[in-house]
Amino acid sequence: MMMRVGVLAVQGAYQAHAARLRLLGAEPVLVRSAAELSDIRGIILPGGESTTMLRFLARDQLLQALTDFAAEHPVFGTCAGLILLARDVEPQQQSLGLLDVSVMRNAYGRQLDSAIISAPTALGDDPLEMVFIRAPAITRVGEGVTVLAERDGQPVLVQQGHLFGCAFHPELSRDNRVHQRFLECVKEGG
Ligand code: GLN
Repeated sequence: MMMRVGVLAVQGAYQAHAARLRLLGAEPVLVRSAAELSDIRGIILPGGESTTMLRFLARDQLLQALTDFAAEHPVFGTCAGLILLARDVEPQQQSLGLLDVSVMRNAYGRQLDSAIISAPTALGDDPLEMVFIRAPAITRVGEGVTVLAERDGQPVLVQQGHLFGCAFHPELSRDNRVHQRFLECVKEGG
C-alpha cells in the first residue's frame, strides 16, 4: 500500500510537490476541502502567495480542519506554507500558529532577488541546493524547534516534532532529501 500524502492545492506550487512525492514512492493527494484530509497521513503546504491561500482556507473552513489534522499528523510548510504554519507573521497576518517560529514575509527581497544557494545542512554530508523565491525569513525559533539548515546564519529549514517548515522551495531543486526527511516522519506516524 502506497502512503497517501496530501498537498494543499488551493494555490501555488502544489503540482511540483505532488510530482516529488510520486517520485519518492508516495501517493500524492491534492487537498482542496476538509473532507480530503480524512484519508491522508501527512500534508505539505506549498509555496505560493500566503494571502491568497488564506482567503481560500477561510472560505472553505480549512483553517480549523488543518489545525485539527496537525494535532495528529505531520505537516510541512514551504515558503508561503511556512508563513501559514508560523506562530507570528510580520507584517502581521492570520496564520495557523502551529510552528513556534516568527517569520518576516518577503525578507530576502522581491522577485528579482530570488536566489539559488548551496549550503551544508543536518541532512547529510553533501551541501543542499536551496531555491529562494520572495522567501520569508525565520526571525525567531522557539525552544522546541530544531534548525536543520541555515542561510548566512539564519534558519531556513526547521523541525518541531512532526511539524516542518522551510523558507525555500525544495520541490524546485533536484535534491530529494528534504521531502525524504518529511516522508520518514509521515511513515513513523508523526
Ligand atoms: N512572498 C510569498 C508570501 O508572502 C511567499 C513566496 C513563496 O511562497 N515563494 O506568501
